[in-house]
Amino acid sequence: MRGGASAGTIDGVRLLFADQLGPHFYADLADDEQVLLVESRQAFRRRRAHRQKAHIILTALRRLAHDLDGRAILVSAPSYGEALAGLGIDPREVSVVDPTSYAARRWVREQGMTVLPARGFTLGENDFQDWLGTRRPILEDFYRWQRRRLGILMEPDGEPEGGRWNFDADNRLPPPKKQRTLGLPEPAYPVEDSIDAEVRAELDTWDDVVLVGDDGPRRFASGRAEALAALDDFVTYRLATFGPYEDAVLEGDWVMAHSLLSVPMNLGLLDPLEVVDAVVEAYRAGGIPLQSAEAMVRQVVGWREWAWQLYWALGEEYADGNALGATTPLPDWFAELDADAVQAACLRSALRDVRDRGWSHHIVRLMVLGSWALQRGYEPRQTAAWFRDSFLDGYDWVMVTNVVGMALYADGGRMATKPYASGGAYLDRMTDHCRGCVYSPKVRVGPTACPFTAGYWAFLDRHEPQLRGNHRLAQPYAGLRRLADRDAVVAQEHARGTAAP
Ligand SMILES: Cc1cc2nc3c(=O)[nH]c(=O)nc-3n(C[C@H](O)[C@H](O)[C@H](O)COP(=O)(O)OP(=O)(O)OC[C@H]3O[C@@H](n4cnc5c(N)ncnc54)[C@H](O)[C@@H]3O)c2cc1C
Ligand code: SF4
Repeated sequence: MRGGASAGTIDGVRLLFADQLGPHFYADLADDEQVLLVESRQAFRRRRAHRQKAHIILTALRRLAHDLDGRAILVSAPSYGEALAGLGIDPREVSVVDPTSYAARRWVREQGMTVLPARGFTLGENDFQDWLGTRRPILEDFYRWQRRRLGILMEPDGEPEGGRWNFDADNRLPPPKKQRTLGLPEPAYPVEDSIDAEVRAELDTWDDVVLVGDDGPRRFASGRAEALAALDDFVTYRLATFGPYEDAVLEGDWVMAHSLLSVPMNLGLLDPLEVVDAVVEAYRAGGIPLQSAEAMVRQVVGWREWAWQLYWALGEEYADGNALGATTPLPDWFAELDADAVQAACLRSALRDVRDRGWSHHIVRLMVLGSWALQRGYEPRQTAAWFRDSFLDGYDWVMVTNVVGMALYADGGRMATKPYASGGAYLDRMTDHCRGCVYSPKVRVGPTACPFTAGYWAFLDRHEPQLRGNHRLAQPYAGLRRLADRDAVVAQEHARGTAAP
């Protein structure tokens, strides 16, 4: 055990999971109550994780223990149960904020802990269920209801500020031509300290844990002060540009105008409403276009909350969905983030982002990595586990909507009205990868055939019986029927198998 207290000396204890590390998870405790933090190497032994994810979790736990000084007990134990037993703490004396996975929720109840409603989100799960009732889950409806309910960017008459709920049409600009970056200042990254050095040295000795990805300077906040600084940095330097270039990708600019706040938010270091407040405040102060402020609000009280709420509302078995019957195991080069094995510039760059930092932005996740997994029929459970474990912000609750629903269409269309399969034409428009690629986005067959273009057609061909009735795919299927080289494309992609493109 690390840190520790002797048996029988602890009265009121709040167990904080490693994604509950901000003040809103413990500020309600009485002065004599303590916070219990558990480091579990065992948890990392159970499945592979990105090296930088292990780093940030351990760093965040130790940083909070340090910041709380004498009020936190930080123990290292194989499991939470063994941590409690080792300290002589009766679980029935422990309070806990409802955790973020089905398994953890079962466990805290089995232990007889006092379970408090979830925090770190904007709405209780029961309130969401009341709102949802029997209606079809549609994000836009939920988002507008959230805006009204929370009074965010609303006029007194109940209409949205600027007269529009949605600026998506203005926010789909391709990357600026002839620029390698958006030209924004480098984000103010956290400065590593002795806690990072200690964790890094310890991880170097972990020979019984499979860590993927490269080590590298820590780019994401792991403590409250760092998280607030990251929020301030985003609002000051990137928020204004966030909206218009939300969907654009530049190979030389891994951040673009994104916030980098999912990691601290998902560690529980920032409350989503404080992020929204900072965004709205900056908009009111001037200099931030409404289309950017609205875009960020939409991401946080719309998409993030949607992912969280649907994780619970759709039930645990939703994650087992495999509507397209995808059974391909993840090839090693993909599973192990071997970017150097890949020639396709877009996929190589995406895997490099994940290998080097355990993060990439939304369009890279959805339209490059997710689309590749969809087209190639990667098994959904394995793919969701890969996203969860390779990304620093990955947790079970975020996977169901984004991976099972959006990226893989494994729920048969409950979340997305059509599969998000991207061909080379889309990637050529929204990224600058194609011009430096060995393949050509317009070529379907032959040595320079773009694997995304050919893969797109081969995907449509493979799933024609299931998907041809989808009216949103009427045009693509009409296109497929007109393809003179359809058989050759399908045979070529079949022959590609699971090889790195
Ligand atoms: C296949 C796939 C996997 C994803 N995996 C994760 C994940 O493991 N963890 C995660 O937090 N997000 C995930 N997302 C959503 C989104 O890509 C990330 O939240 C975002 O890229 C994080 O970077 P950022 O903080 O700079 O986000 P920004 O682009 O700055 O957006 C602001 C915030 O909005 C929230 N947000 C935006 N979109 C979503 C969304 N679709 N779902 C949930 N929150 C959203 C995030 O909290 C994010 O920090 C995934 C999306 C896809 C398509
Ligand atoms: S040509 Fe195809 S594989 Fe190459 S970068 Fe463009 S979309 Fe990706």
